[in-house]
Amino acid sequence: MGARLAEKVLLIGWDAADWQIIEPMLSAGLLPSLDGLIRNGVMGNLATLKPVISPILWTSIATGKRADKHGILGFLEPRPDGCGVQPVSSTSRKSKAVWNILTQNGLRSNVVGWYASHPAEPIAGVCVSEHFARVQGRCEHPEPPPPGWIHPPQLAAELAELRLHPEELGAAHLAPFVPTIGDLQPHETPPVTGLRTVLARCASTHAAFTWLLEHQPWDFAAVYYEAIDHVCHAFMKYHPPKMPHISQELFDRYKGCVSGIYRFHDMMLERLLQLAGKDATVMIVSDHGFLNDHLRPVETSDRPVGPEGWHRHHGIFVLSGPGIRRDERIYGATILDIAPTILTLLGVAVGSDMDGKVLAQCFDQPPQVQHVESWDRVPGEAGMHPPDVRVDPFEQQAAIRQLIDLGYMQDPGTDTQKMVRHVINEARYNLASVHIEAGRVAQAANILEDLHGNDPADVRFALLLAQCCVLLDRRDQARRLIHSIANPGANAPQMQLLLATIDLAEGNSAEALRRLMLAEQAEPRLPNLHIQIGSVYARQRRWDDAQRAFRKAIEIDADAAMAHYGLGIVALHQRRDEQAAEHLLRAVGLMHYFPRAHFMLGVALSRLGWYDRAARAILVAVSMRPNMPIAHRYLAALYAKLGDADLALHHRRKAQHLLDLAREKQPLQTRSGVA
Ligand SMILES: [Zn+2]
Repeated sequence: MGARLAEKVLLIGWDAADWQIIEPMLSAGLLPSLDGLIRNGVMGNLATLKPVISPILWTSIATGKRADKHGILGFLEPRPDGCGVQPVSSTSRKSKAVWNILTQNGLRSNVVGWYASHPAEPIAGVCVSEHFARVQGRCEHPEPPPPGWIHPPQLAAELAELRLHPEELGAAHLAPFVPTIGDLQPHETPPVTGLRTVLARCASTHAAFTWLLEHQPWDFAAVYYEAIDHVCHAFMKYHPPKMPHISQELFDRYKGCVSGIYRFHDMMLERLLQLAGKDATVMIVSDHGFLNDHLRPVETSDRPVGPEGWHRHHGIFVLSGPGIRRDERIYGATILDIAPTILTLLGVAVGSDMDGKVLAQCFDQPPQVQHVESWDRVPGEAGMHPPDVRVDPFEQQAAIRQLIDLGYMQDPGTDTQKMVRHVINEARYNLASVHIEAGRVAQAANILEDLHGNDPADVRFALLLAQCCVLLDRRDQARRLIHSIANPGANAPQMQLLLATIDLAEGNSAEALRRLMLAEQAEPRLPNLHIQIGSVYARQRRWDDAQRAFRKAIEIDADAAMAHYGLGIVALHQRRDEQAAEHLLRAVGLMHYFPRAHFMLGVALSRLGWYDRAARAILVAVSMRPNMPIAHRYLAALYAKLGDADLALHHRRKAQHLLDLAREKQPLQTRSGVA
């Protein structure tokens, strides 16, 4: 083990917490505990991953890995016996979570309510699965939590007592959220009954976690609260300012729910900080943000918006404790960075197979990061379920099908089969999105070909496959796919966007622009649309028009990284280098994995004479995308200016090597293109 930087680490998960809602509340003094924590530590955006689905994301937070490695691919999974579906479980996670790695290193963890933590794993410390807080049955005789909800089982009796049944909450408990609750019949008002259930679960989770902080020793403690996400899904449409389609009566009744749930979390935070003590290092994270302003979708009965449609790309990150910088903002953090950073804080090596990085900019002194190749390949007791319990529920289904076909097992019936098939398809669709985001487009396309082949009517499969085809330069196939969509509905603007991208790739920018204008008429508030329009103008070197389009995108979504990138490029061409650097910095701050933006930032900084910073920016770019000859040419020139002849020579050779490789490949590509 390396040097331990934190005495203990407290990780607090607030699903869907968003700075856009928090910042005005902080200014108004409504979140004093969070405010104190931020002043004593660092804060920043936490970029999420696609698809923006909570169980997948919280497992990425706990493992430092994308879903193709950790194996949790949605809310549901097929039951191992093939007789239906169940919530995703800890037995299907394919990779060690932080608490397993810590167990293996002799450290104790208390973990409460984490997604996909059921059944509770036999870790060093205590694990309370997310099923604990879901109290079923009547208030007087609640059902016990399902078997396996806690490890170690000796604590079951004590902790089960701490659960709160929704009916234990009365009007007085709900009044802080809905002040006119006294005039309502709570049991007849669905959003209020939902709120009651959410609050009861939240209180149960909090009670178990605070009990553990008080009574059980820990090196690492982690708790997951789902309430902000659930309250936002039910009540964000009533959050101020009033949305035009919401009645004044409902607005007045529910306008305080969202801010109420944030204040509730701030009160819980106060207690957590007390119990953790001054020496603890505290981290608060959310898996994504939540649309809360003029970008909120308008839901109608004939046009429902799925939960993902409300999620914003950036969640929150706060870190405070000994050795952590104070009152500073950090940039470029993603949810993949949480696990490596926690391990480093506790002096434990980071797995080189983790997809995230240690957030070194949070520390007063850059931490010494130790590495192991992969914790999954290090043998030893890690508090995991025994291997015969840990099964891949998806692979299992093929074996079950075979048993049914051979007559060894009874057919579960068509409805169950349909449900299982649906869950498998959703998981594969999500896996395809994971591959696309990680740049493995061909792998995604293979999965989507299959899904689309089996269900050509599903617009989502066709559209995502078309997107892959565009990225793979299979433009004819993409066009065929898009034209095959008979009822695009809400997806029509996205179809026009894709067709415009194809036109652009074929050099037909006039046609691309025509399509984009059409799409704009249908749905003027899509930031991506204006980014595309800006890109077309930029390609035509109409810089002023491009600038106007990118600005429009930013008016719609101030956090649109691509729009800031576009403004940076325009500024570079107009020789406004300082502004270019500002826009490009903003772009990489919002979206760290963005090699072109890091490269262009380097170009801007180099023009400003900041050679050292320029070289660093371009090094980030080539670490993300090693085969950019032009980036190495720039590095060679920069190191020559900085007086490092060896490095200059190294990068000049590298650039030449890459150019030679590209030249060797070219004739082959042309040949295959003709064939
Ligand atoms: Zn979430």
